[in-house]
Amino acid sequence: MRLVTYDYKQHRHLAVLVGEMLIIPSLIGDWPDEADGMLALIEGGPELLVRLRRLTTNAPAASRVLWDPIRVAAPIPRPRKNLMCLGWNYVDHAKESAAASKRNYKLPEYPVVFTKAVTSITGPYADIPFDARVSGQLDWEVELGVIIGTGGRGIEVKDALKHVFGYTAINDVSARDIQSRHKQFFLGKSLDESSPMGPCIVTADEIPDPQKLILRCWVNGALKQESNTELQIFDVATTISILSQSLTLEPGDIIATGTPSGVGFARTPPEFLNPGDVVECEVEGIGRLRNRIVARQKSSPA
Ligand code: MG
Repeated sequence: MRLVTYDYKQHRHLAVLVGEMLIIPSLIGDWPDEADGMLALIEGGPELLVRLRRLTTNAPAASRVLWDPIRVAAPIPRPRKNLMCLGWNYVDHAKESAAASKRNYKLPEYPVVFTKAVTSITGPYADIPFDARVSGQLDWEVELGVIIGTGGRGIEVKDALKHVFGYTAINDVSARDIQSRHKQFFLGKSLDESSPMGPCIVTADEIPDPQKLILRCWVNGALKQESNTELQIFDVATTISILSQSLTLEPGDIIATGTPSGVGFARTPPEFLNPGDVVECEVEGIGRLRNRIVARQKSSPA
């Protein structure tokens, strides 16, 4: 199933994408109308997913609405925890980053793990705010996102994919000046509303092998990144296993699995996103994020 979080008639709904149509289960009835319906579905476990599938098969016309991109929110608009992210998880990207930072490259023995604030998440077609007083070096990173279904601790590699609820696309937008100035990645990865996710979550049954997905990123129509998840240093199963040795993974946790080469800061000369630019990130079988960079007029209180 392709699952979407959708704003319709002043409400935020869980919806199922079928072709160009959305089926909104709470319009059928017998389904709770919750703003964080995606998290409720994930936390409900496999039985609830079966119920949703049953409910939306042969759904009545009154529950079907035409897909309107501007109403699509991030599939999990407000995750319960920071996103867990892998750094330098593709050899070609690890090498370009090392060269740009004048470091020697060595194949890592363990993944680099950092987190991203939940408030950095934004919709798949939302504008990304740009404020030169905060950062003049916004960079793109197309990534496969993994959504945990069944939680667990000490998960073995052979069992790890059974813990995946589904997959999504993430643009791990990064403020390079902040990232390097503050040493740790967190702040430069956490600008408000900077990181698009979506457009949907594809349930794991439809992606039996997450290591065979093409990733692409364009800026103003020019291809900047093109790779395949088969080139990940730590694959999805290994990543889940490693993370779960240290902490309990919980339903709805999100893992961004790293970006391939072609990011802006490692280019000669370096390139960054500016107001008016359009950045698009696509993961095969999931869909494409499309976001415009827009100057923020003034900082607004939360
Ligand atoms: Mg990244």
